[in-house]
Amino acid sequence: MGTENRRAVVTQEMDFSHLEEHILMRLDKALNDHEIKVYYQPVVRTLSEKLCGMEALARWEDPEYGLLPPDRFIHVLEKHKLIHLLDLYIIHEVCERYSRCRQQGILPVPVSVNLSRLDFEAVDVLQEVERIVGEYEVPKEVIRFEITESVLIEHADEMQKWIRELQEAGYEVWMDDFGSGYSSLNVLKDYAFNELKIDMRFLSDFSVRSREIIASIVDMAKRIGMHTLAEGVESREQRDFLLSIGCEKIQGYYYGRPLPYEQCLLELKDKGIDRESPAEQQYYDEIGKVNVLSANPFDFHKEAKDSEFLRSSDLALALLEFDADVQGFRTIYTNDACKKALKLLGYSEPQDVVNAIKARSFPAAGRFIKALDRTRTQGSEVFNYVDGGDYCSVKLKLISSSGSRSAILYSLTDISRNTDMERDRKLDGSLRHLYAIYNEVYLLHIDKGYLEVLTTDNQEAGEHQHGSIKDIVTRYAAEKVYDEDRPHYLKFFDTDTMEEKIRESQKGFINAYIRTIDGHGNYSWKIYLAFIVKPEHVLVMVRDEDTAKGNVWNHYRKDYFMEEEKEGYSEDISPEILWQNALRWTELGIFWKDLERRFMGANRKFLDYYGFHSVEEVIGKTDEDMGWHVSPDAFREDEINVLNKGISTHEVPGHCLVNGQNKSIVASKTPIYKDGRITGILGFFREVHDAERLRDTHPDLEEIDHLTGLLNVRGGMNVLLEYQDEYMLHKQDFCMISISIDNFRELQRLYGSAFCDQVLFFIAELLRKRFGTECALLRHCGDEFRVIRQVESREEAEKLEKAVYREVAGIHMIRNKRFTLYPSTGLALYSEQPVTGQMLRTARERMQANRRRHIARFRKNHPEY
Ligand code: C2E
Ligand code: CA
Ligand code: CA
Repeated sequence: MGTENRRAVVTQEMDFSHLEEHILMRLDKALNDHEIKVYYQPVVRTLSEKLCGMEALARWEDPEYGLLPPDRFIHVLEKHKLIHLLDLYIIHEVCERYSRCRQQGILPVPVSVNLSRLDFEAVDVLQEVERIVGEYEVPKEVIRFEITESVLIEHADEMQKWIRELQEAGYEVWMDDFGSGYSSLNVLKDYAFNELKIDMRFLSDFSVRSREIIASIVDMAKRIGMHTLAEGVESREQRDFLLSIGCEKIQGYYYGRPLPYEQCLLELKDKGIDRESPAEQQYYDEIGKVNVLSANPFDFHKEAKDSEFLRSSDLALALLEFDADVQGFRTIYTNDACKKALKLLGYSEPQDVVNAIKARSFPAAGRFIKALDRTRTQGSEVFNYVDGGDYCSVKLKLISSSGSRSAILYSLTDISRNTDMERDRKLDGSLRHLYAIYNEVYLLHIDKGYLEVLTTDNQEAGEHQHGSIKDIVTRYAAEKVYDEDRPHYLKFFDTDTMEEKIRESQKGFINAYIRTIDGHGNYSWKIYLAFIVKPEHVLVMVRDEDTAKGNVWNHYRKDYFMEEEKEGYSEDISPEILWQNALRWTELGIFWKDLERRFMGANRKFLDYYGFHSVEEVIGKTDEDMGWHVSPDAFREDEINVLNKGISTHEVPGHCLVNGQNKSIVASKTPIYKDGRITGILGFFREVHDAERLRDTHPDLEEIDHLTGLLNVRGGMNVLLEYQDEYMLHKQDFCMISISIDNFRELQRLYGSAFCDQVLFFIAELLRKRFGTECALLRHCGDEFRVIRQVESREEAEKLEKAVYREVAGIHMIRNKRFTLYPSTGLALYSEQPVTGQMLRTARERMQANRRRHIARFRKNHPEY
């Protein structure tokens, strides 16, 4: 260091120590004479760009040193434990200003003030605050306290108590400078702040990484119910970004530097920034809770679930503000996906849609407005409409209301544009099967009069090109169709009436038998079938009558229904009816059984639901053989009714085991007739979600272990009670196998607990795959799992125990990490001592005894340990 520099440092130090002395000596006078001033910096609501608050910042206008910024004196006051004098002074000044405004009839703006941890140590902050606030009769909700993140780590217990007391007394407490320290996340888990101020250093370099971090902070804050504010905003670009991710408030030089109160207001006036009213504040605070970054923004009131920690902005989202008085609306927010979706529909700006609706030139303008109005009164609404040939689905949800205005969250799904992958995949799946039977498949775009060839094995396909429906049909009618059938053929393809005819048909499709000339000049029959796949889209399928009776149908049936039937197909159930049913029921698990209630076949959905690989695994078995209903009575009786009395049952509730969980389902069954006699049962079922919804709203009813997705202890108890009932009623015995990992602790030490969580999850997956259809599976706690199954004998139970042991002991690698598991198992049968608690204990004791044996054996073989 050069002499010059050294001298500069020394002078500076002298300067500092002199300043420190000066500050200490002069503080009382500065406070008394108002040499210390409160500067105000505006906080602006991102969505409305209105002033929603101010931060009070101290400035020392010193006669000797000039204007001193806080970083010159705050640390001095803290060092000498005098900071509380300043902070209480600022609160006093703010309150005084507030009451003066009110006396002048001006609507005051809420103000946040900074607190230091030392304030709490020096005085009873709450008591002091209450005294000052009471003196000026300031409403508590307009004074907010900012506490910087870094002070929250030490003395966390005391800090938590002080903060909670302030909040309980009615004050908002905000976390300042979030992200500036090292343990920001830790702090959040212990404190329930009302608002999070995101530290300005994330905006100072506006990199992709920083933006990602800010987005995650906003996302996370909303999940845990905190409002968000970004500090240090200096540009329009930054503001736009914060708007796009749903950050609610903005503070920074972009809207204004800290200034004396009057000046601050003048500057805002110049910029055209209005003040937010208290009603608006409430209105926007509610809107601010919507998490546009969430995979499911419509569920924002729900507590966050692990599975939702997936960020997604694929959903086209907008916030609309509906005014009931004028029955009109405007958009106050649109995300990128929404802008893109609207572009695809031909609107360059969201406002274009609004205008189109106003001008009633929008296809569903009237319905749209009505739907908004209904949302306002009923809370939510879903409706579909067609725009320019695109099939759109709109979801609406009321977020907040103020007077005649309502903020409504809107999402748009353009079903016809592949945005709804799920639906398309399903359609594709069912079509693939149909392609196998039909020689030709066409998609008619009714609205556009356009025919699209999806598949054809017609040798003369040359003439079956895409094109105008009318042209193709008339040409084909003239050249190929048998004279007598021509009118019928043309009527079938009449696009003006086609959709209506299909809709009116009971079956949901129309068909026609048409004779056409083949390549050799001979006539042959063809069967035409048409049904609607989505509005204005009709699928037409054509097949040769001869082939239909031949191998193709059998082949299809095998593929799709996986039915193994010895004789040829029954004439009573026409292929069309089955196809139609198959299409309608793809959402449902379908199965059919013979007179003995043995499975004859099932569709893919059914097999997938229960986790079967092939239909062979179920054929010839009854429900009891499968062991998947813990209490099969409900289903057994209704099947007997179907078979003996020919009664169809609808939505009979019951339970079944799926992947080790006891699921609620409703099943419907109807007899299959052949030659006037009942020959079997056709049934389908669906899962009931009500129970799940209940679980969401009552976390204490939670039955699932979050880490593994198996049942937890509570869920396990419920299953056990059912098994127990079955034992009482029908002497149906069941067993429990406890399994745990002897070396789990060691694995934790070696690989860490995150990895061990993966191990637990992996074990659960394996158990689910191997035993999930027949056994109830639960994670008891830690590394202890339990497998429960109804059994006929002890041998059967022991076989299961061995199988469980083998599966778990066979795990050697997860994510390229090699390791070994040493499991121990213990088995108990309910019939041994028919008391549930006793069975639990016995299974565990036997498991522990096995573990001790394992360890003893290990010691014997490895005396060095
Ligand atoms: P803080 O609470 O984080 O306050 C925000 C600081 O960032 C203010 O500095 C403000 O002028 C500055 N700032 C605001 N917008 C921008 C921007 O867009 N860009 C940049 N670069 N800076 C911006 P200030 O007023 O110098 O205050 C510094 C710190 O001093 C405050 O940080 C706060 O921790 C402390 N402080 C200020 N007044 C008081 C007080 O009355 N009591 C206590 N305990 N601490 C105070
Ligand atoms: Ca602050
Ligand atoms: Ca800050």
